[in-house]
Amino acid sequence: MGIEQFTFSCDGFRSWESAFAGQKMIFAPQKSVIRSNADDRMDGRVQVRWYFPPDNDPIPNATLEFQNGVLTVVDSDSAIPTQHLTNTAVIPGLVNAHTHLELSDLSEPLPFTGSFPDWIREVVRHRRERKQSPNEALMQGLREIVETGTVAVGDIEQVGDEDHPVDQSLRVAPRRLGFREIICLNPDDGQKKIEAALAAECEEKIQLGLSPHAPYSVHLEVVQKIVDEAIRRSVPVAMHLAETRAELELLQTGSGELATFLKSLGIWRDDLFRPGTRPLDYLRILSRAPRALVIHGNYLDDEDVDFLAGNPQMSVVYCPRTHACFDHQTHPWLQMMNRGVNVALGTDSRASNPDLNVWNEVLFLRERFSDVCPKALLQLATINGQKALGFVRASNSTDWTFIELHETASEASAAKRPWEELFHRDSRPVGSTVSRR
Ligand SMILES: [Zn+2]
Repeated sequence: MGIEQFTFSCDGFRSWESAFAGQKMIFAPQKSVIRSNADDRMDGRVQVRWYFPPDNDPIPNATLEFQNGVLTVVDSDSAIPTQHLTNTAVIPGLVNAHTHLELSDLSEPLPFTGSFPDWIREVVRHRRERKQSPNEALMQGLREIVETGTVAVGDIEQVGDEDHPVDQSLRVAPRRLGFREIICLNPDDGQKKIEAALAAECEEKIQLGLSPHAPYSVHLEVVQKIVDEAIRRSVPVAMHLAETRAELELLQTGSGELATFLKSLGIWRDDLFRPGTRPLDYLRILSRAPRALVIHGNYLDDEDVDFLAGNPQMSVVYCPRTHACFDHQTHPWLQMMNRGVNVALGTDSRASNPDLNVWNEVLFLRERFSDVCPKALLQLATINGQKALGFVRASNSTDWTFIELHETASEASAAKRPWEELFHRDSRPVGSTVSRR
């Protein structure tokens, strides 16, 4: 097992150049750099200002040895060449547990004017009218993921996206779990849609999952069939659930703005939603899957959270800035964490977020929830995401992200306040290592 690649932005290039001397470098398009040596090993020794182990307190001035993909804290030994990175912290690898890379060509979020169906219409219009192919947009998103130090991503894939040759230099980065999206309100078409979603070629480097899109776009019976298929194939599922008040109304009463939306598309039938249906009905079905990611869960109630707490194979992916973009009620992520639910972070797509940088989600939460334990906050964006996507590794051989700390911190204050320095608004990810599977 060696470290397969090492990526960082141009800004961080000089300081890293001599850290792992003698290794082949591949310059990917735009700003990211991927390097590995001839036999795919990445060995070296660095001293960093802070090392944040996955399950322990931060260690100041840590000397870290990367050998065969395993990171070890070692005693500083002047006889061994060590690269000193005085302004850098090493944290467990950042994970973006939910996004839609095929929408990464958007330069800014699509406007939300108070109506969720209107926002969906904007997304559909963008897909129809854009000049770039979905695959070009996907590659643009992947580059952004790499450049922001993210080691793994849960991506919702639309079938037919792979219609152009892709940039081989980004094939290896980051770890990707591609959830094939299924939209189907007609139970009779369910199996056909599932087979179509699975028929598309799967890249060797991408792990496969299935995604019934959302309760308003996939019939409950089709969700059941998708979960049956996920069980047969031992793959995870991801579903947008309890995202809006309109969704709850649709499930409960078969009315509201989403019902009007489906009628306007000509796909409404009176028997689509059994009166009194709740998100819990979907949670029960999803819980049968080997692993399930509940995307958003903005309006899950106490009973739902209790159910999730009793099903450790399920995770909730909270997308903080996207949540803020839609003016929802307060997200129950703290309540979920307190009850032991695995909560991971996602950016969602650029249709509802200005970027795909999951570190910005952490800083966003830190600013608004300064009393939350900082270690727990870091876990949301790292270890919890790895667990949600199934990329969990032994603690010392996990993937790592390098954070460039803001320059004004004095050595004295930094030694006392690792978390303040890490979560400073100017601290930013500059690189990552991804171990070979
Ligand atoms: Zn989404």
